[in-house]
Amino acid sequence: MADKLVRGNSADGAIRVFAAVTTDLVNEARRIHGMYPVATAALGRLLTGAAIMGAASLKSETDSITLQIKGEGDIKDLVAVSDCRGNVRGYVSNPYVERPPKKNGKIDVGGAIGGGYLSVARDLGLKEPYIGQIPLVTGEIAEDLTYYFAKSEQIPTSVALGVLVDTDGSVIASGGFMIQLMPEATEEMAERLEEILKGVPPVTSMIKEGMSAEDMIFRVSEGFSMLCENNALTPRYKCTCSKERMERALVSIGREELQSIIDEQGEAELTCRFCDNRYLFDKNELTELLKQAKG
Ligand SMILES: [Zn+2]
Repeated sequence: MADKLVRGNSADGAIRVFAAVTTDLVNEARRIHGMYPVATAALGRLLTGAAIMGAASLKSETDSITLQIKGEGDIKDLVAVSDCRGNVRGYVSNPYVERPPKKNGKIDVGGAIGGGYLSVARDLGLKEPYIGQIPLVTGEIAEDLTYYFAKSEQIPTSVALGVLVDTDGSVIASGGFMIQLMPEATEEMAERLEEILKGVPPVTSMIKEGMSAEDMIFRVSEGFSMLCENNALTPRYKCTCSKERMERALVSIGREELQSIIDEQGEAELTCRFCDNRYLFDKNELTELLKQAKG
């Protein structure tokens, strides 16, 4: 099933659902970072969550949302950034974490993350980004995002995310959904949805069986009159780095630091954490940047 991100609304506007298939996107992330299965599952879930939350809450093309996990376990930190159109990028501190599977056979993402914090930052082009932070509940990411919505945004939300990794490390199925209750929703609707969710198969099972993002929306809101919006997005792994951005980063480290790079190394090689692209600056270029740097 091709990667897709779709939004659906109930006819009365009380329920909104986002669903995404992100199998190709997460495979691309795995290729770029050379991730082992635990990191593939962890970052894949976070990237999928970021794509969905970006589509759900950002308006302008230049807005972005950043989900960051500061883990206390072996995997350490995870970062995922998305815009409003499902263009995501991310990285994980330790892509090579290995852990035995959980008793139910699933990848132990929560164990690899091992407690810590989740922060959500929305950059809406204002002076200060909006930032909310919560302690991790399980480290399984979907539960943590659900808790984040309850705690920080007071929107009753249910998030499900899943990444199924093959024995060769490639991604068989990846995706997720997010259901939100708008203020119009009644207690009875909430109870009905909760009942439906109890019977919904894991996201990866639905995708593996060939269900599309739209199919998932109808499955998780069965019995409600739902309409899928027809401006579906194609979520993609897309980095925004450039030589100019790297120049700005170099300038921002300050004159003294830059001078010592020139003196000691004579050149600088910067690697983008999101896509592993390398940018080389020779002595002449560094000397030019030095003029722009502050003392
Ligand atoms: Zn990059």
